[in-house]
Amino acid sequence: MAKIMDGKLVSEYIRGKIKDEASALKTRNIVPGLAVILVGDDPASKIYVNNKKKACEQLGFYSEEHLLPADISQEDLMAIVQSLNVRSDINGILCQLPLPSHLDVAPVIEAINPLKDVDAFHPVNVGRIMTGDFKFLPCTPAGVMEMIEYYGINVDGKSCCVIGRSDIVGKPMSMLMLHKNATVTICHSHTKNLKEICRAADIIVAAIGHPRFVTADMVKPGAVVIDVGINRLETGKICGDVDFDNVEPIASYITPVPGGVGPMTITMLMKNTLTAAKIQNLLDK
Ligand code: NAD
Repeated sequence: MAKIMDGKLVSEYIRGKIKDEASALKTRNIVPGLAVILVGDDPASKIYVNNKKKACEQLGFYSEEHLLPADISQEDLMAIVQSLNVRSDINGILCQLPLPSHLDVAPVIEAINPLKDVDAFHPVNVGRIMTGDFKFLPCTPAGVMEMIEYYGINVDGKSCCVIGRSDIVGKPMSMLMLHKNATVTICHSHTKNLKEICRAADIIVAAIGHPRFVTADMVKPGAVVIDVGINRLETGKICGDVDFDNVEPIASYITPVPGGVGPMTITMLMKNTLTAAKIQNLLDK
């Protein structure tokens, strides 16, 4: 029986610390401010944006949403980013992805001031993750590392298999594990001997987007299994990338879906916004 890594619990713990820091900043008249840009009316994106707004309210942050029409031009979108860059009450800027197909994502991300890039998608921040000299980390991998730390899991010298190589999850996840001295193997859709690599791993991080992809025969008894996947089944139920029911009995630690990595993501966005506010008010380097 594995120990369940409870993302709601860890999230509440971290939010408590963020709230305390935000209260302390308030005594200096500093209120962390987050601007979220949403282009179009994708229902899932709307839910995410609303959850971010609620998290800001809960922690005493200022937030504002820029709900833009789906046919907005690249120039107009870039102009909004620039207007947010120069505002002192906005410490973090986030452009909800995906964008409609007529818009080019990279120039929008690159237009965000790297010190306000609370998603950590700007090439400057991506580069900083490579060198280990980072200010912001992408929210989901950062949330995984917080959970690992909270549960006292030692990563040093362990073999870690990250399945998925996306810019948002897999690649930065692998770097963070490497910074903690794990020996990391990154697997992806072209990997030949995935099952063997996975079965040799002390820690598995699954970020694939295929329901119940990681089965019990891919997991070494006693391994730590982190499930980043969020998949909506035909029944409407959410499930992860790991076959939880069959893997849980043999793993040492496991994250459930829902209630595992998911709740951590917005919490780490709040942490990045707090960090941004401190940096911009010269309270942090
Ligand atoms: P993505 O589609 O960008 O990347 C998926 C990766 O899986 C790719 O690198 C691909 O090579 C790999 N892959 C696909 N099929 C494979 C196979 N058969 N064998 C091995 N590797 C394979 O997805 P993403 O954005 O990295 O997200 C991955 C999952 O994590 C999704 O379910 C997504 O919804 C979820 N997610 C969750 C959170 C969260 O807050 N918990 C945040 C971001 C993403």
